[in-house]
Amino acid sequence: MNPWIGNTAFLLGLVVFVAIRVPHDKRSKETKIAESHKGAVEVALLALMGMGGFVLPLVFILSPLFSFADYALRLLPLLGGIMCLGFSFWLFHRSHADLGTNWSNSLELRENHQLIISGIYKSIRHPMYAAIFVYAIAQALLLSNWLAGPGCLAAFVLMLVFRLRPEERMMLERFGRPYQDYVAKTKRLIPGIW
Ligand code: SAH
Repeated sequence: MNPWIGNTAFLLGLVVFVAIRVPHDKRSKETKIAESHKGAVEVALLALMGMGGFVLPLVFILSPLFSFADYALRLLPLLGGIMCLGFSFWLFHRSHADLGTNWSNSLELRENHQLIISGIYKSIRHPMYAAIFVYAIAQALLLSNWLAGPGCLAAFVLMLVFRLRPEERMMLERFGRPYQDYVAKTKRLIPGIW
């Protein structure tokens, strides 16, 4: 199949994903950050995500630089990628809507930060990360290139490895027993499993 079908689906998906985030980003910025745990590791992880999710795909789509790592796009991965995109949009929107102004793109606590344990947060503790994970799988399925396709997934796995524990530690320090109870009742990313 023509790789442009996958590339176009990916680009449209990227636009929708960013469009879902923009209004929440604007709204959150109106609430001051009360406590920041954004260290060098966080900065490096965010830069890696930018590389994997934006730079590599755009280099692949707009230049022949990665053509040595191209492979043929097939129908099933294309359909799977489109389905993953749809699911990730829903989950990304839901988690942003439920988290409200408590959202930050890094390890930060806002003024009057509320612990959210309802809505989609009742099912898992990290629905936004689950959404980004499914989105990264969509990218891997839609971009028929061994570098640009899995770029976001590789970066995001690192992000999960280095962020989940510090984030949960930060939440535990801030909210204490209610967060401990919440952790006891919920799984991280996959309901009932992990
Ligand atoms: N890990 C969550 C949130 C991602 S945004 C998810 O995947 O859905 C990251 C910020 O959200 C963290 O810095 C923290 O301040 C905040 N946060 C994480 N879990 C939260 C919760 N249950 N309630 C309120 N804020 C939370």
